[in-house]
Amino acid sequence: MIEKERMTEHVMDIIRIDSLSKKEKDVALRLQKDMEELGAECFYDDAGEKVGGNVGNLIVKLEGNKPGAPPFFLSAHMDTVAPGEGIKPRVLDGIIRSDGTTILGSDDKSGVAVIVETIRAIKENGVPHGDIEIAFTICEEIGLLGSKHIDMSQLRARQGIVLDSSTPDRLVLRCPSAEKVEFAVHGLEAHAGLCPENGISAIQIASEAISNMRLGRIDDITTANIGIIGGGIATNIIPNRVKVVGEARSHDEEILRAQVDHMRSCFHNAVSRYQVTIHDDLSPEGKTHVAKLDEYIERSYDRMDVDIKSRPVTLVDTAVKNLGYDIKHHTSGGGCDANYFNKFGIECANLGTGMYELHTVNEYLVLEEFYRSAEIVLEAIRLNTVLPA
Ligand SMILES: [Zn+2]
Repeated sequence: MIEKERMTEHVMDIIRIDSLSKKEKDVALRLQKDMEELGAECFYDDAGEKVGGNVGNLIVKLEGNKPGAPPFFLSAHMDTVAPGEGIKPRVLDGIIRSDGTTILGSDDKSGVAVIVETIRAIKENGVPHGDIEIAFTICEEIGLLGSKHIDMSQLRARQGIVLDSSTPDRLVLRCPSAEKVEFAVHGLEAHAGLCPENGISAIQIASEAISNMRLGRIDDITTANIGIIGGGIATNIIPNRVKVVGEARSHDEEILRAQVDHMRSCFHNAVSRYQVTIHDDLSPEGKTHVAKLDEYIERSYDRMDVDIKSRPVTLVDTAVKNLGYDIKHHTSGGGCDANYFNKFGIECANLGTGMYELHTVNEYLVLEEFYRSAEIVLEAIRLNTVLPA
């Protein structure tokens, strides 16, 4: 029922439409057209206004043809990371790649195309289905902002599938909680050659803090990273300010809190060790300056942990079995829109679509897995009308 050639052409088409985060409008309009041609109702929520993007989440509703089946939810994100403009996809030996100068954008155009092909196949073949609600989201790549701000009052479905992970050999059930951590160290400016003893180097303090920090893989379920550092003006000035931005993730809230506290105390300890007393004409008895710290900790998203006995997992597992494939339940180290959907009461697992080496110019899409993902979703939707609610 899945038309492989059409699916390949469609994904290439939408990959060619630029859609960096906050600039998803062109691809949204194309998808709106695709879905309206299939008789679905389309509208946008106000998430775009809330996050400063040029379009909101595209919400699509397709009325069921089988009364009694519970409504089902599908989602994939429309935005892509940089470098992602002017992408030139090419197919070779069953694999789609970019020309090597950009990402491919199969993350997550492949998920979008799986959903569109599934709906096409349903319509063409008269597959029985309940109401289907789709969210093509914005700004997933910059902190799950589309799903975070989705207008839940528009959605009735309480179970579904997100298409936004690597391989359809795996169904992602668990994703971590994440915290963003930001530290600004304030030192004291001074001429580096004439009077370095009158300065406090913010860069030195920050590097001391970071060198004492446990980073990378903390344990099986916890990771931490310092990803951005910036500060200083010139080589002959003791730098008075540096900003450091990082994150921590864990599947366990207590371990996450401990890791964030550890990162904070590394900075507090380093900052507390630095002060200078300057004697000059204005203050002959000496004026003491101490280093200072500003910190900003923000929850990025909450963990998800989908019950293996839940309906979406049963539907996918049964679909995979019916089709003669295999699938394993998976714990991921990354967050996705499903983190928010689960939090908001739509129980959903994340199925892979065949995309690899994401967020690099080597990104590629394995077509056999891409097609398989659509077959699984199609069968899961059919089963949703058969399995007792
Ligand atoms: Zn993605």
